[in-house]
Parts: sequence; C-alpha cells; structure tokens
Amino acid sequence: MKIKNYINGDFQDPQSNDWLDNYEPASGKVYGQIPNSDAEDVEEATAFAKAEFPKWSNTTLEERSRILMNIANGIESRLDTLAEAESRDNGKPLSLAKTVDIPRAASNFRFFAHAIAQFASESHESVGLKAMNFTLRKPLGVVGCISPWNLPLYLFTWKIAPAIAAGNCVIAKPSEVTPMTAYLLGEICTEAGLPPGVLNIVHGLGTTAGQAILEHPEIKAISFTGGTKTGEHIARTCAPMFKKLSLELGGKNPNLIFADCDYDKMLATTLRSSFANQGQICLCGSRIFVERSLYTSFKEDFVSRVKELVVGHPFTSATLSGREKPATFSVQQKVDLGALVSKSHLEKVEDYIHNAKAYGGTVLCGGKRVSVEGYEGGYYLEPTVIEVTTNDCKLNQEEIFGPVVTIMPFDNEEEALQLANGTKYGLSATVWTKDLDRTMRLSDSLQAGIVWVNTWMNRDLRTPFGGVKASGVGREGGFEVLRFFTEAKNVCISYSQ
Ligand code: NAD
Repeated sequence: MKIKNYINGDFQDPQSNDWLDNYEPASGKVYGQIPNSDAEDVEEATAFAKAEFPKWSNTTLEERSRILMNIANGIESRLDTLAEAESRDNGKPLSLAKTVDIPRAASNFRFFAHAIAQFASESHESVGLKAMNFTLRKPLGVVGCISPWNLPLYLFTWKIAPAIAAGNCVIAKPSEVTPMTAYLLGEICTEAGLPPGVLNIVHGLGTTAGQAILEHPEIKAISFTGGTKTGEHIARTCAPMFKKLSLELGGKNPNLIFADCDYDKMLATTLRSSFANQGQICLCGSRIFVERSLYTSFKEDFVSRVKELVVGHPFTSATLSGREKPATFSVQQKVDLGALVSKSHLEKVEDYIHNAKAYGGTVLCGGKRVSVEGYEGGYYLEPTVIEVTTNDCKLNQEEIFGPVVTIMPFDNEEEALQLANGTKYGLSATVWTKDLDRTMRLSDSLQAGIVWVNTWMNRDLRTPFGGVKASGVGREGGFEVLRFFTEAKNVCISYSQ
C-alpha cells in the first residue's frame, strides 16, 4: 500500500516522487511505501496552512469544538481499522492498540474540544492606577508537530488536537517508521469538516521532511516528542529563529519499591510498567530499586513472572495493556509482548543485552530472540531482567527503550532517592510504599515531571505532562499545552472616575 501526504485536504504524492519502504515488524517484510517528502512538500503545506490561518483562528470556539468532537467520533467509529493498522505498523499487541492507543487518540480530541471552551482569559484590576488589565491568548499561526513511533496516533493527536483547538494551523510529521494511522487520520478530518489547510500531514525522514519543518521561517513553534539527541538538535536549529519549543524527550525512569508496599499490586504493576508495549513507552520503569529486606523475594517472584510472559504475533491478544484492568475482549491465545518496532531498534536493544557484563550487569532471564512460527523474520525479543550492582553503569544510565529492565537493592530512603535522581533524565518516577510521610518527602524531592505512587501510567488529561533535565522542556496536557500553543497578550485599559 502506498500512503500519501495530506496537504490542504488532498492526498498527494511527494513532489520528488521518491518513496520509502515501510516494514511490518511482526514479519520483517516490506508491506507498503511512504512519501520521502522534502522541503518542497513542507513549503507547499506551509503556504496552504498560512493562507487558512486567518479564517481558522477566527472560527468560533463552538465551531472548533464541534469539529474536534466530530474527529473524536470518526476515530471511535473506526476503532478496529485503526487498531489493526497501528498494531501492524508498530508491532504492538492488537489489544493494546484497541484498548489504549486508539481510544486515547479519540479522547485527545474530545478533551481539547471541551478544554478550549474553558481556557478563559484572565483579568486584573489595578485599583491604585485606575486601569483594567486583561490577557488575550492568541494562536501562534502555523505550528509544527513532530512525533515518534512508540505510541503513533496517541502522541500525534496529543499535539494536533490542542494546536488546532487553540486556532493554529498545523504541519505535522509522524515517525517514518509508523506512518499508517496518521495517514488514516487525514480522511477522518476531512469527513469531520475540518477546513482544508488547517491540518497538513507530511510523511518522510526526520533529516529531510523534519528538518524542513524546523527550518521553515513561517513555522512559529515546534512541538516535538522523541529522542534526547534529536531534541538537542531541534533546540540548536530553532533557537536562532526564536521558535517556541516544547520538547518531550527520553527517560530512564526509576521504580522505588519499599518493603511496606502492597506486594501483589506492586508486582503486577511492575510487570506492566517494565514490559507494556515491549518496554517501548517513554514512561516505562526501566530501573527497579528494591529495599534490601524485600530484594531476594522480589527478585525470585519477578523473574519467575517474567519467564511466564508470552512473546508472539501482535494480532493474538495481550494481557499487558497500559491500563490497570486487563483487556476484556476474548482472546484466542495469550500473548503479552509483540514485536519490537524495527530491525535496527532490535539490534540496538540486543547490544545492551549481549554486552551486559561489560555494561555493568548480569542477565537473570530473557535476552534471546524469539522465533514465531510463520513470522520468523519478525523482530521478537524475550523480556529481559538484568541485575546491576551500581547505578553508574551504562545499563542504568542510557535509555534502552525495549523489553529490558535492571534491578538493584537499596538500604534506605536517602539512598533510594539518590539512585533515582542519579541519571541525566527526569521524566517519571514510581514509588511503592504505604508510608504517607515518605510519599510526601519523595514526591517533593524526586527529579521528575511525573511521580506515581502505588500506580503507574495513570493519566488524567488535565494534568501537566513532561520531564525535567534531559527529558525535556515544557509541558503538555490540560491548559499547559494550550498556553504553549498560544501567545499571551496583555491589554491595559485606563479609566477615569
Ligand atoms: P527520534 O528522535 O528518532 O524521532 C522522533 C521524530 O523526530 C520522528 O518523527 C523523526 O522522523 C523526527 N526527527 C528525527 N530527526 C529529525 C530532525 N533532524 N529534524 C526534525 N525531525 C526529526 O525518536 P524515536 O526513535 O522516534 O522515538 C523514541 C524516543 O522518543 C525515545 O527516546 C523515547 O523516550 C522518546 N519518547 C518520549 C516521550 C515523552 O513524552 N517524553 C514519549 C514517547 C517517546
């Protein structure tokens, strides 16, 4: 299948007529082509977006909300098609796409359809000066949204929905590795009544199509989710043009397990937080630290539960959904992990496993490729647990972004905090304890944008989302992202009595 760019409401070939192969992770085979777009395609898309902006930014909030709701409904009515496309393109279990990724994409539009109506301007009366101040929130113009492959439609729409709700026109680029659901979104937007030019989707490589978005002078802001190295490059490129930046980057999230926790809940959730989506979620808890008195029993139980996890074709259903409750629809065969996203990513993850000794650890279980009957070329890998003796090793300092976690004991709360904060990253942290004072102390001191206590991946779309240190700059979610996609303008009116 050949997918196309979505520009000004039309599906178009890239101007260069150059195409890239799209691989199916479950089989390792090519199953489609995507446009290898370049600066010319970005130029055309931006010209249409710029021309549409005055009209779209003046559309009433009610009308924008109505269209966003239509898009949400369009996504929901195609749940099966989109989930299958996502699972096929990414390798993730179909059940995960069906229960988490695609419903969340619909929620993103529905949430911002409501939120934009409540994003009221503030006013301040300067009593002594006899003046009334109010703040207008003006859309920025044309904005760029660039997203990664791990939660394709989920993260793509997490940017696009607030951007268009706030009155901007968008040039969006999904990951070249997982373009399929972004392509299908174009059709849904047209049917939903989104005016041509408001959303333009340009497919292709980061270094060409992505780079052209960064460099285009008419694109006023970049909302990016992806790797820390790419984030650094984006910051360097965009700073001289004074573009507004929101950077959601990598993580190496700690999981602090204290002996007083609810053990069964902790164990079940830690399995999920380690291996959901094959460990390819930026929020996965990849460094597990356990209080020494609990360490031996945790290690034994965790490893034995990990050994029971089944790796298989993503279309057989999964139990490790991103939600607290397991998927409810019928399953023919239990599969917990699907395929990793690409051959190169599989090889990158394997490098950490094959060199575990040199990188500071001992493999306790997993680590081998899995051959799935009929799909021998697929990118399947056993879930892997590695024991480390120090936090200052490559395995604990670098983001692996696959089904690999490390475990290590700690002696007290102070040490646990030091270990948790001891990387360049600061996206999320999870704490397992029943001690309220400890909960408050750690929530205050952990260097992370998100702290979960006795839960994981529990997301309320009103709350701020993002990281500190090398995990990013800026916040998505709720009114935070609407602030990002608008510029504040102060109006001060003087009056006499
Ligand atoms: P990546 O940085 O390689 O690519 C992300 C996107 O950026 C892709 O669309 C890519 O084409 C584009 N890109 C690459 N080079 C570019 C350039 N020079 N100019 C413009 N665009 C460019 O990341 P990835 O491998 O797709 O995703 C995995 C990473 O994403 C992991 O590090 C993960 O932690 C991170 N991530 C972070 C969050 C978060 O919210 N913090 C969420 C999901 C994933």
